[in-house]
Amino acid sequence: MSQIIDPFNRKITYLRVSVTDHCNYRCHYCRDEDHQTHTKKSQVLTFEEIAKIVALFAELGVTKVRLTGGEPLLRKDILDLTKMLGEIPGLSDIPLSTNAHLLPSMALKLKNHGINRANISIDSLIPERFKEITRDGNLDTVIRGIDAAINSGMKPIKLNMVVMKGINDDEIESMIDFAINRGLDLRFIETMPIGLAGIEAIDRHYSEKNILDRIYSSYGDKLTVADSKQTDGPAKVLKIKGTNTSVGTISAVSNNFCSSCNRVRLTAKGELILCLGQKDSVSLRDAIRSGMNDDQVKRLILNAITKKPEKHFFDSVVDNISNRQMVEMGG
Ligand code: SAM
Repeated sequence: MSQIIDPFNRKITYLRVSVTDHCNYRCHYCRDEDHQTHTKKSQVLTFEEIAKIVALFAELGVTKVRLTGGEPLLRKDILDLTKMLGEIPGLSDIPLSTNAHLLPSMALKLKNHGINRANISIDSLIPERFKEITRDGNLDTVIRGIDAAINSGMKPIKLNMVVMKGINDDEIESMIDFAINRGLDLRFIETMPIGLAGIEAIDRHYSEKNILDRIYSSYGDKLTVADSKQTDGPAKVLKIKGTNTSVGTISAVSNNFCSSCNRVRLTAKGELILCLGQKDSVSLRDAIRSGMNDDQVKRLILNAITKKPEKHFFDSVVDNISNRQMVEMGG
């Protein structure tokens, strides 16, 4: 069985696929105010191309493929893609990352087309504030989307909240209560300095230590540390006794967890990105469209992996830093 091992002996088993760089929300830490998406349809991978690339990654040992964006549910006929991916041998997990705006009408269909679990971004429970952070998002619709996902039977559903000093840090406790009341998991994400928007947002960075202090001061006697083998990804996870909820922190800035990185990213335009913080990429779209056969594309992937850096270097100035916005890379 082939596998992808990078130069730092990390096994790559996880591919994040951005299916569109369009988003119906414009969260100000994700894309800057003037950022427009002008990607032409011809530049974007077709579903057949995505399925082809994912199948090659599966042959190389990737077992988990997350659909992200932009907002993945904006991609027309996305259910056709989820069905195609569900038929690829070797994939055991196909989760979705979404802002939930379109889930009220789509959750059940997604569940019936192979999406068993979802991560949902929600940064505030105060309608006006939510609207401001997302530049015009609608909290009521998002909450209806979350409830539709619950009712569809997707499980687990994880809420992702980017915590920002002076913007929404006063909502840590109310977001935990919201998650507990609905039996959902919750992850608090530190702002990352990705792209112009992320670099500007770093002034409002709220550290993992502060987040954990707040969680412990409210729930200390009820918390147990989750077994790291049972948690999925870089979050430090705490279970809250007497509830179905776990809370965790994703702290790419305070706490560099790159030594356990198991992922690479595919953009909507077919670029394979090796690290969120690094410029290097290779176009798998161009490789496929130029007529390369499967073995040649797999060799290209394995060769690209030799450039995966040891860590993201968010905290230092290096030549190779990426200037892509998060909305182009899928988080
Ligand atoms: N539209 C989908 C969503 O809302 O989840 C998927 C794409 S979005 C880029 C994926 C995740 O990236 C979201 O949870 C978002 O909050 C997070 N994100 C975007 N920019 C970020 C930044 N600068 N720092 C930390 N997280 C960021």
